[in-house]
Amino acid sequence: MENKDIKIALIKPTIGTKLHSLYVDEGRMEPLQLGVLGGLIPNDIEIKMFDDRMEKIKYDENFNIAMITVETYTARRAYEIAAEFKKRNTTVIMGGMHAKLIPEEVLEHCDCIILGDAEEIIDTLIEDYKKSNLQRIYYGQITTPPQKGIFPRRELFKNKGYLPLSLIQFSRGCIYNCNYCAVSQYFNQKHYCRNISDVIKEIEMQDKKFLFFVDDNFTANKPKVKELLKALIPLKINWVSQGSIDMLYDDELMELIVKSGGMGFIIGFESINEASLDYMGKKVNKLHGFNKYKWEVERLRYWGLQTWAAFTIGHDTDTIESIKATCEFALQNKFTFAAYNILMPYPNTQLYKQLKEENRLLYNGKWWLSDDYRFNNAAFIPKNMTPDELTQVGFYCRKEFNKPSSLLYRMYEPRTNMATFKKFITYWLYTPLFRKEVYKKQGMLFGLNRYLEGKKYAER
Ligand code: SF4
Repeated sequence: MENKDIKIALIKPTIGTKLHSLYVDEGRMEPLQLGVLGGLIPNDIEIKMFDDRMEKIKYDENFNIAMITVETYTARRAYEIAAEFKKRNTTVIMGGMHAKLIPEEVLEHCDCIILGDAEEIIDTLIEDYKKSNLQRIYYGQITTPPQKGIFPRRELFKNKGYLPLSLIQFSRGCIYNCNYCAVSQYFNQKHYCRNISDVIKEIEMQDKKFLFFVDDNFTANKPKVKELLKALIPLKINWVSQGSIDMLYDDELMELIVKSGGMGFIIGFESINEASLDYMGKKVNKLHGFNKYKWEVERLRYWGLQTWAAFTIGHDTDTIESIKATCEFALQNKFTFAAYNILMPYPNTQLYKQLKEENRLLYNGKWWLSDDYRFNNAAFIPKNMTPDELTQVGFYCRKEFNKPSSLLYRMYEPRTNMATFKKFITYWLYTPLFRKEVYKKQGMLFGLNRYLEGKKYAER
């Protein structure tokens, strides 16, 4: 068998569906990891990408191999897709965060898994496939620098209706060790940066002027990110990213962020309750003391950065009142976006092990596979409220923050949301979209088969 005889399907599974309607994610972004995977596969192998969030997978196109990226939220759907390919004798390969967290489960649904970065092992895997000698597990070592000389095949994203921004990665991992975080588990508290020349070349190779650096913590290595930002200035782009709050203590860094076109950051505020920050090991938010982020919010405004504040709720130190106060905090500070994420016990993380020991896991400890689990519901027994109360207060926060009067109220922030025409447009392009998603996603069931089988049944 030669490369030209091989046909590979790259699959991004969806999360699931509402019971009586097919969920279509309208705020969907390019699945960068599949573009990079495409860039690793030799050019003479035919590749097709299917994004299950909005298009049908063409199982019958005689694919030799299906490569499916698996996250905990999409695991159930990924296994359904794998079963369809297996029926057609397509070899199924899985990778992604969930495969690394719980390989023994993922292996039950595929022929082989890739654990860790795929860069170093794809060639070997393809050669093994050609010799009918595929291994069950390929251990991808963390590559330093990551993605060296590898560029995503962005033509795979064409005409799929993604949001008008290009996703790109500068670094992987994080130096901190917040105890609920799957990233620190995956990368063992290490942070790896790409070659800056590769990042610049990749930006020049694509056609968009608005980028999203999807790093776990873009600003974790300050000297390195400053180098990158200096190189971004002449490109005259705009960008957003995710970073930890300690960036605000470095004025040189902040100035470069603004000069290079930085418009906003997703920042893990997590809680305004100091006891909760201590409980989750979020030391990075208290490096310079803690005064309910008064100074930090002021600095974000000073630099004119739009802020997506991410909160996690349901810690043992949280109460219904403290969670509602968190919601009020985000509203009063007129953040551009806010996410209220219920604490999720991802398999084999510190949090998962602790809750298991304390007999507090619901859904038999496998919420991601459960018939009954619904998106945005609590999957464990919280300390100071019932699971239902936690689910409800999470939904309450999302609704309050995103109700039309809140959107208007938050818009009037002269130094961020109204600072420039671009920021104003970004605000109105994305906030209504996220408002819609709040209602569409709440209570969604995982996987699609129940919906598809029900539909077939109704059509008979
Ligand atoms: S700072 Fe963010 S990415 Fe880093 S360990 Fe904490 S939660 Fe994870």
